[in-house]
Amino acid sequence: MTSVFIHNFGCRVNQAEAFDWSERLARASLTVVKDWRKAQVVVVNSCALTARAEADVRQFLRKVRRELPEVRLVLTGCLREEVAEELKHSLKLNLFLPNPAKDSLVEEVLRLTGSISKTQVSEKRPYRSRALIKIQDGCNCRCTFCIIPYLRGRSRSLPLETVREKVQKAVEESYGEVVLAGIHLCAYGQDLTPPKSLEELLRTLLPIPGLRLLRLSSLDPRLLPESLLKILVSEEKVCPHFHLSLQHASESVLKKMGRRSTALEYQKILGFLRSHRPEASLGADLIVGFPGEEESDYQFLKNFLQESPLNYFHVFSFSPRAGTPAERWKQVPESVKKRRSEELRKLSREKNLDFKKSFIGRTLPAVVVRKKEKQMELLTSNYLKVQVEEGSGINLREVVKVRILQVEPFSVRGEVV
Ligand code: SF4
Repeated sequence: MTSVFIHNFGCRVNQAEAFDWSERLARASLTVVKDWRKAQVVVVNSCALTARAEADVRQFLRKVRRELPEVRLVLTGCLREEVAEELKHSLKLNLFLPNPAKDSLVEEVLRLTGSISKTQVSEKRPYRSRALIKIQDGCNCRCTFCIIPYLRGRSRSLPLETVREKVQKAVEESYGEVVLAGIHLCAYGQDLTPPKSLEELLRTLLPIPGLRLLRLSSLDPRLLPESLLKILVSEEKVCPHFHLSLQHASESVLKKMGRRSTALEYQKILGFLRSHRPEASLGADLIVGFPGEEESDYQFLKNFLQESPLNYFHVFSFSPRAGTPAERWKQVPESVKKRRSEELRKLSREKNLDFKKSFIGRTLPAVVVRKKEKQMELLTSNYLKVQVEEGSGINLREVVKVRILQVEPFSVRGEVV
């Protein structure tokens, strides 16, 4: 049986695509393996959000080709075509599928491996323990730092009924948690005829019998009407984990980014979420060192984060991307970017440790995401990764109750109750 390894770089949407491919490849009698050294086909789903991300993709492809000269190497994802074409020649890639052709990846891999004809279905191996479903792709915005709209095209949504069917199927396959992923998730449905909304979608999905936990990938604070916020805080099945793409808090920097929002609007949303769902994990994406970011802008951001109910943030040091307006602007010195991003990452670690410690002795719903020897890893609905002793008869994907016993900077221990 042909073995395939799928390596993801980047965002939840890439993960959701790989989840879909792995399910379909397994149904077509290929084996999806977890170790690339055991694979006959290696698929790389690339990311080009930052220069660092692009460098990591190149490095992995070189390592695979060096160690497995005979392996069939397939590249897809957000890597720019000219970069991919150069790699195709230098690393003798067997196949490069740019984003617009990504949906045909499974058929192309079957063609590459001559597996089209086989009908025998392989024994399915779970690629992941949570069902990741891509419901939206692309983006119609033009944030001045972002390359994604040029790589993934205009916003397009899966029809509401198709999403409902995919979630229904995931529930039937005993996935305790379903993750809805999108490049611009909050824009879900705007492109459909008639237009739909993320709110309508949630109202359709939440009543599905047997659905336990529904997690949303990144949310745009500019597209969070009160009616949607009310669903997020009132529905038990909605995981209390809200990750917001804030990017900055200083109005002048947000304006330069082409993101019309204010710190005051953020405070209102974060305050609403924290007061209505105190157990919620509140996170944010941030960019530091954006062209024109003065020390006063940075200090304003830092104070905002310190005062805010956010308990963690992903800090990106600004990386100029070819073809974006911000690439042409006067850059902040690397040393300044480095100091600012390190300070905010330290603040994020401190706030998140306090947040995790506030759950010692409390019990939370969690899905079983990994089982290894006598240990299990659980992911709570508010995104704590908890190590527990293996409980008999508990399966991957299952939702259990876990009591938090111990919290250290890089580990959380608990017990299933
Ligand atoms: S909304 Fe997000 S994906 Fe769209 S351009 Fe802005 S940062 Fe990029």
